[in-house]
Amino acid sequence: MNAIVGNKSIRQKLCSDIHADKLSHAFIIEGSRGTGKHTLAMNVAAALACSHKSAGTIPCYECSECRKILAGNSPDIITVGCDGKATFSVETVRYVKEDVHTVPNDLEFKLYIIEDADKMTVQAQNAFLLTLEEPPSFVRFILLCENAGLLLETIRSRAPVLRTEPVDNASLDEYICKVDRRAAQLKLTSPSDYAELIMAAKHGIGTALEYLEPKSFAPVMDIRALAIDFCDTATSTPSAKAVIPLLSRFSQKRDILSKQLSALSEAVTDLTLLKKSDDAPLDFFANRNFAIEICDRVSLSFLYTLSCAVMDAIDKNQRNANVRLLLLKLISDAGLI
Ligand SMILES: [Zn+2]
Repeated sequence: MNAIVGNKSIRQKLCSDIHADKLSHAFIIEGSRGTGKHTLAMNVAAALACSHKSAGTIPCYECSECRKILAGNSPDIITVGCDGKATFSVETVRYVKEDVHTVPNDLEFKLYIIEDADKMTVQAQNAFLLTLEEPPSFVRFILLCENAGLLLETIRSRAPVLRTEPVDNASLDEYICKVDRRAAQLKLTSPSDYAELIMAAKHGIGTALEYLEPKSFAPVMDIRALAIDFCDTATSTPSAKAVIPLLSRFSQKRDILSKQLSALSEAVTDLTLLKKSDDAPLDFFANRNFAIEICDRVSLSFLYTLSCAVMDAIDKNQRNANVRLLLLKLISDAGLI
């Protein structure tokens, strides 16, 4: 699994279990969104089927089994999930319960990758439990979830939990440039946008690749630009004339406004940490020098006040307060007008 970035300890464990033929027939991969859970599951599928298994590094990525599986063309690797819905339906579980009894097409096993397993209702989990306990001998399961704590204890006791680790920005940069030409292109033509994209991905490979999609890229960049411009304006002798126009860039839609305010909160947190220590690790600002410059304009107490005002706006947005009023209160609480 050497083509996977990060998650070294999990990869080593999975490879040695597969080599020793003692991989659990069911296990759970837990990790935040975009940390490579699905990629890891597909690599396990390929490693199990790889015809060069005895030769060493698995999967080899070259044999026909590896290629077919990793291209998503094997009928014996079955991925099911929520299909964009909020919960995982009991009908999907019923389909799996039926489908496990048909023999594999061309592999020696059938592997079910259950995405968003933590979104299964209790009813769905109970329906799934019997199949998980006693599946036909050729059936394997990998359950993917963000929070294994939401799964029933009876499920967790039958499937060991492996946790994916976030990748560092340098590895993320190297990996996405290797697998997606748009990343390499963006890095070349617009290094500052590329740096913003890496920070926005928050150590998630899947997230970075998703943000490279044209429909996601512009909205993500807009949200980041608004947070940066807000911090810049708020810290440069603010006046109503300068601050009010910024308000019209905030969305009237609550879900988008929520992302905008979260980004602003992350930016202010970075500034607060930087105010205390020049070498503080940053979660939001891609341009550290600019963040330091902003920081130097204001006091720590100003940043605390701004931070509280943003948190209050986030809270009010969640409570469905009037958007225009909550934004006016934000700039008033922060002492900007
Ligand atoms: Zn292979």
